[in-house]
Amino acid sequence: MKNISEEKGFKKIYEGKAKILYFYGNDESRLVTYFKDDATAFNGQKKGTIMKKGEFNNAISSSLFKLLKSKGIDSHFIENLSEREMLVHHLKMFPVEFVVRNFTAGSLAKKMGVEEGVKLLSPVVELYFKSDELGDPMINETYVKAFDLGETKDVEEAKKIALNINEILKDFFDKNGLLLVDYKLEFGILNGKVLLADEITPDTMRLWDKITLEKVDKDRFRRDLGGVEEAYKRVYDITSNI
Ligand code: ADP
Ligand code: UDP
Repeated sequence: MKNISEEKGFKKIYEGKAKILYFYGNDESRLVTYFKDDATAFNGQKKGTIMKKGEFNNAISSSLFKLLKSKGIDSHFIENLSEREMLVHHLKMFPVEFVVRNFTAGSLAKKMGVEEGVKLLSPVVELYFKSDELGDPMINETYVKAFDLGETKDVEEAKKIALNINEILKDFFDKNGLLLVDYKLEFGILNGKVLLADEITPDTMRLWDKITLEKVDKDRFRRDLGGVEEAYKRVYDITSNI
């Protein structure tokens, strides 16, 4: 597996569940994100490997960042360095996950006592505090200020961008036979500007076939449905035309 960062001796600064981050040589203002095949679910309790996931996710995420850029939404993405490596701007990240939902699924269906797959009248946006130890608890904007997780105006801006992204991605996937059920985004700050970061992949989105409602995302791994690699490949094929 080609890893230019390791070959060049770039300094590893973080290894997460799905990616490894390196400084781009001596340049600490840019990072290389290396996408792994490792898959985890239920806050790391379920572990596995999805063959070629790293390659698929690097390509899918790059294509979606390019699509968003063409619609005026900037992100940390600079360029692809290899099949599994992406060069990005090093941001000061909010320790917050922004989840946007268009249909009920998972915990939302349970919480509201409805079936999965009910179309929401308007998108739901949820904020979660990024903490593996705490299991990413749900928070709201008042927590952001009270616990100094970021500037209120920046979090408001990130929410606005997350909803703009929703319109673009919903439309894109709809044209390609998929429903965008929900997804998670992360944001950070560069020179005072709020920028989209991390990844947009089947690890972080729920996508369902428009006709059969078959799951085309990481839920196939989470729920042991089989056909996991095929699902990632389908999203890869769709996004490779961008
Ligand atoms: P996790 O940390 O949840 O295990 P990953 O394995 O995907 O997840 O690790 C990637 C880490 O990199 C995440 O913690 C994410 O917040 C962080 N990150 C993503 N993009 C950037 C960026 N542009 N600058 C700094 N950190 C980033
Ligand atoms: N999500 C993610 N990382 C997380 C939590 C959620 O990528 O740490 C994504 C997940 O893939 C799904 C959406 O955000 O597309 C909602 O996930 P959640 O865990 O809230 O699922 P639910 O609670 O609905 O089962």
